[in-house]
Amino acid sequence: MVPFAGNSLDRASRRRTDPDWIAAQLRDACTLVHPMWKLQPFAVGEEDGPLQPGFFAPGLCETLAAPDAPCVFLGLDRERAVFALDVSAADDPENTGPLAGLGHFHELRAAAARYPDSDLAMLGQAKALIDWHQRHGFCPRCGSATRLVDAGYRRLCPNCGAEHFPRTDPVVIMLATRGDCCLVGRGQQFPSVMYSALAGFIEPGETIEEAVRREVFEEAGIRISNVRYFTTQPWPFPSSLMIGCFAEALGGDIRIDEAELADARWLDRPTARALLAGEQVEGIRIPPPIAIAHHLIKAWAEGG
Ligand SMILES: [Zn+2]
Repeated sequence: MVPFAGNSLDRASRRRTDPDWIAAQLRDACTLVHPMWKLQPFAVGEEDGPLQPGFFAPGLCETLAAPDAPCVFLGLDRERAVFALDVSAADDPENTGPLAGLGHFHELRAAAARYPDSDLAMLGQAKALIDWHQRHGFCPRCGSATRLVDAGYRRLCPNCGAEHFPRTDPVVIMLATRGDCCLVGRGQQFPSVMYSALAGFIEPGETIEEAVRREVFEEAGIRISNVRYFTTQPWPFPSSLMIGCFAEALGGDIRIDEAELADARWLDRPTARALLAGEQVEGIRIPPPIAIAHHLIKAWAEGG
């Protein structure tokens, strides 16, 4: 399973539309509330060691939140309701107020590998939802302020009645292979020598297979066939769903789109295996296990 997948909460989606039930959970001392500050989860754990998300009973963190701050229902952990609360209004909640001295806020992407998998998936859900609320305070149809309903899974415009739902943006990420090699590229923003699977957003009116074919040809000039689904990964930066695929390259020379890529190259299987084993190889590194690209390369390199 890839990081950010495997959320163990029961999302209990039918409960979200019952404001009385939600309000009762937020009065129940057994309920768990996870504070998130500027999209950073609150965590407890040793410095540089494993982390666990911090949870508190309702009432403890609420003094840190603005009155209209997003409070989103994440689901049920057995019978206990779990919420995430945006406490970004607080100035310095690590050092002053009810959370002082109890833990730290960590940027999720940098700290992701330090959380257990099921906690990481829940934190990704919380971050993606709160981030969406922070960026969608106004109706795109009429410009009026919208309000949070359904415990965070909908925003409603009181002026024109439009409903707005949390976004998930599909991205294809694919490993094109030919013989004993796979195609990897280095984005313009990547650290030098970091090569990854090619990727791009699916456009309106496009299938997954069509997006894979288009992106590989646009970015690297390589025609492909036989697109095969691998797995998906929720990627809450801010709200993508990475759709991992394999494909067969039909040949031809690499011709990169310099607006997108700094370089692209064929990576042979023995070198991929060496990189996956942690060996240093001059001129190339591959993404760490937090990224689905790592798992695409691993599945291919170990697959035959
Ligand atoms: Zn409106």
